[in-house]
Formats: sequence, structure tokens, C-alpha cells
Amino acid sequence: SATLYIVPTPIGNLADITHRALQVLQDVDLIACEDTRHTGKLLSHFGIGTSTMSVHDHNERQRAQSIIHRLQQGQNIALVSDAGTPLISDPGYHLVTQVREAGFTVVPLPGPCAATTALCAAGLPSDRFAFEGFLPAKSKARIDTLTALMEEPRTLIFYESPRRVLDTLAEVIEVMGPERQVVLARELTKSFETIHGGPVAELREWLLEDDNRTRGEMVLMIGPYRAPEDALPAEALRTTELLCQELP
Ligand code: SAM
Repeated sequence: SATLYIVPTPIGNLADITHRALQVLQDVDLIACEDTRHTGKLLSHFGIGTSTMSVHDHNERQRAQSIIHRLQQGQNIALVSDAGTPLISDPGYHLVTQVREAGFTVVPLPGPCAATTALCAAGLPSDRFAFEGFLPAKSKARIDTLTALMEEPRTLIFYESPRRVLDTLAEVIEVMGPERQVVLARELTKSFETIHGGPVAELREWLLEDDNRTRGEMVLMIGPYRAPEDALPAEALRTTELLCQELP
């Protein structure tokens, strides 16, 4: 039956497109993309002539119906976003839900994603991590979000904007303290890729030394919460509490 393919595209370096992604983009009847001009450039670079249709945050729900209609006619469709993996801080979630509900197959292709690419070089624990997407735009909401995540035992991954990164780091210092380990991965897979980490207060000072260090696309990672060494483990606290109850 007709299939919707989810196709990741490069996050900078065009050589990161996979053989299978090119094959699928070539073979499908239609490519649904965030921005037809943007994706048009990628397709022409690889000599692919498949037609495109826009599916972005503002028309995704309606476009889902017309995509389902095409699947019913037997057309295969690929979904791409401007860069990286669709659905990951990008459109696609509503489309995939509706296409699955309509009974069609959704085939995901593996490929570039800034979050996992950044994590792999950060030197932060990678056995468990939580992807948080973009932090809220307003400072108060950002502080609330960071406060809720203050004692998160997993590595936290955020997409961040160059305009906001210094404010965000000041808020991380305020909420989680100056010693929390953070890593900033910038311009991944591109010429000016830099991955720099340390205690958050030191990283912020380092960024302030040179405007170039806050330019471009970036992923911010925050290391897991570590209980201070002088704090008693939860189990010890519980035992103490029980002992106190028993004592006269
Ligand atoms: N779907 C994409 C993915 O799979 O990574 C993410 C789309 S989101 C709208 C764009 C954000 O991803 C950027 O603002 C930045 O935080 C991050 N990003 C994308 N490309 C990047 C790169 N080459 N280096 C660092 N961060 C990148």
C-alpha cells in the first residue's frame, strides 16, 4: 500500500544525506516540505526533480487531509523539514498521527539530527537523556522550565538561539548554580563547528570574550543533577527518620 516516508536531511554538510534518503526522494510521487524554496535547493543539488508541496506549522492539519487523499490514490509521499529529522522541533507530528489513523504505513529513515549529533561529542552522560526542544521565549517561563528540571538526573538537550543563549546561561546559573556542567555545540557538521563545555559560569565568560562564539545554530546540553556530597542519600534520611520514630 502507499507509504509516507519520513526523510531526514543534512543539518549543514550536504554529504550527510544518506543513499536511501536520495533514493526515496527520487522515487516518491510527492515531497511534503516545510519550505518549497529551501528544499528545492537541496533537490536541485542532487538532481532530483520530484514535485514538492508545503507542509508547515500553520497548514499541517489541513494538508494532512490532502496527503491522505493522495495516499488513498496510491501515491507514495516523503516528508522532509528544512534541516535534520522531521518532527524533532519541526512539523510532522499531526501528519504522522493522522496518516497512521487512516491506516497507511509510515516508514522512518534514520539520518541527521542536531540533538543526538551534539550529545555524541559532549562528554556528558549519554545513557539517559531528555530532549527538551526550544526553551520558552520569555525569561519568566524559561526560569520556570529550568526550575522544574533543576534536579533532572538525565542529561538535558535544548535547541537554542544565538540571540538568547547568554540570557539562558545566566538563568541556568541562577537556577542550577555556577558549577553545573554544560556543553554548547555550535554549527555542527559545518566549517565553524565548535563544541565547548565546562561549568556554566565559565562557559558564559568564555562566550562573552568573542562574539563569534555565540553565532550560528546551536545545541545546549546540561549535565545531570548531582546531589551535593555533604547531603545524605535519601535512604540514609529515611533510616534516620525511622530510627527517630522508634526512640523514646
Ligand atoms: N529537526 C532538526 C533536527 O533534527 O535537528 C531541528 C530543527 S529546529 C527548527 C532547528 C534548531 O536545531 C536550531 O535552532 C539549532 O538549535 C539546532 N540545529 C540545527 N542544525 C544545527 C547545527 N548544524 N548545529 C547546531 N545546532 C543545530
